[in-house]
Amino acid sequence: MTGTSLPLLELNPSFHGAVVRPGDADYDTARAVYNGSIDRHPSVVLRPSGVADVADAVNYARDTGLPLTVRCGGHAVAGTSANEAGVLIDLSSLKGTDVNPSRGTAIAQGGVLWGEYDRDTALRGVATPGGRVTTTGVGGFTLGGGYGWLSPKYGLTCDNLVAADVVTADGRLVHVSETEHADLLWALRGAGANFGVVVNYELRVHPLPPLLLAGMLVVPNADGAGEVARAYRDELERAPEEVVAAMATILAPPEEFVPPEVVGSPVLGMVLAYIGAPEEALEALAPFRRIAEGGMDLIQPMPYTALQAMLDGFAPRGWLNYHRGLHVGGLSDVSIDRFLEVGTEIHSPMTQGIVFRHGGAVARVPEDATAASHRDAAYMAHPIACWASPTETDYEMGWVRRFSEAFAADLTGGVYLNFEPGTSQADVHAGFGPDKYARLAALKAAWDPTNLFRSNHNIEPAA
Ligand SMILES: Cc1cc2nc3c(=O)[nH]c(=O)nc-3n(C[C@H](O)[C@H](O)[C@H](O)COP(=O)(O)OP(=O)(O)OC[C@H]3O[C@@H](n4cnc5c(N)ncnc54)[C@H](O)[C@@H]3O)c2cc1C
Repeated sequence: MTGTSLPLLELNPSFHGAVVRPGDADYDTARAVYNGSIDRHPSVVLRPSGVADVADAVNYARDTGLPLTVRCGGHAVAGTSANEAGVLIDLSSLKGTDVNPSRGTAIAQGGVLWGEYDRDTALRGVATPGGRVTTTGVGGFTLGGGYGWLSPKYGLTCDNLVAADVVTADGRLVHVSETEHADLLWALRGAGANFGVVVNYELRVHPLPPLLLAGMLVVPNADGAGEVARAYRDELERAPEEVVAAMATILAPPEEFVPPEVVGSPVLGMVLAYIGAPEEALEALAPFRRIAEGGMDLIQPMPYTALQAMLDGFAPRGWLNYHRGLHVGGLSDVSIDRFLEVGTEIHSPMTQGIVFRHGGAVARVPEDATAASHRDAAYMAHPIACWASPTETDYEMGWVRRFSEAFAADLTGGVYLNFEPGTSQADVHAGFGPDKYARLAALKAAWDPTNLFRSNHNIEPAA
């Protein structure tokens, strides 16, 4: 245990974990989150060593009345895992993963990150749809829905959540599954940060071949890019759901495969992977490779863990960030043209304008089966502004607005809250829609009537 002076009288003396307070050497590291725009100062950071410590921490926050925040990977761009003048429960010391392919699931503890989870599942030749950057937490990601490269084939991460252990607002440990507290499992699948501290996630796993055909095709974002992007869209609409994909506008990074004269220029990248047998993959990806002929073809056999880490270079911790996640019904020519035009206005080397392919297994789950919403959208527009200095903030936020407006003709009006920077009630309603919000508010009243867990895209308890 670190730290000295005591505003901690009510913390159970049996609490075994770390206690970090203002003035401690590791306080600034302990309070920092991924998004460098968020700068908050908790009164205390509690890092539990086990489930009983989590219960102690919840009881302590509730009894003192201090604002409570829970953190797994700290990636929430909205800052919902940062805390001002309250109690921050940092789960980063709970790292166990137990993979059991014969049971068809893996159990991850509350502090596991996707890079850690994927390493362990890869050893057994299986995987769960998960974060496309390895430092993202399994926790906030799964509880908010979770779109990974495997999602068009195997669904959202929360669709693969078969059970969980949750410390609730009254400090109880509750096991949640299809047969125990099924209403809470429904809520955890998309609105889960609202109902307690999840200490264990049991996730379905799927077999994967040792190598997948995957990578990126890159062409200049200049004359001719519109033709390429439209051909990519047309091909994608014919492609089976094993073809997972995203197109992105970026500035060419200073990597060894990029000719020096191209570094820093606007490019259109098409990330593609085939989730299935390598012998089928060559044929399935061939039409896309033809479309981008003459550009850079970085598609090659790679392990799933390499695909999962492919975008890591664009996610430096501590840079300033502002993202959106907008569901898109289809990709009209006009949206494609505007998307490319706004792509030429990127200033920061880390800013990306991404359009993910969704649908497939995500859309096959009925809309009312989980709290996660807007399943029928075929694509998601995801502007990621990521910049180094506050002097660039106005430009970068304006760029996100222009990128979002580029899809005006095709937006469904729904948003994906895990990517959304706003936490107002209007934002939260846009994430769930009125009917689901009402159902969630009734569950919130049952499980967390005082709204102890409100450092999130918050569902207010029904009256
Ligand atoms: C670089 C980057 C890449 C990303 N890639 C993707 C992607 O590919 N697909 C996608 O869908 N999303 C992606 N996201 C968004 C991501 O899903 C969210 O940021 C998510 O919240 C991250 O989870 P976390 O555990 O790191 O979050 P945290 O910031 O730790 O937590 C987020 C929210 O969940 C709550 N929470 C965390 N753990 C628990 C728990 N155990 N019990 C209860 N509440 C908890 C927190 O209190 C907070 O409200 C990405 C984000 C970033 C920054």
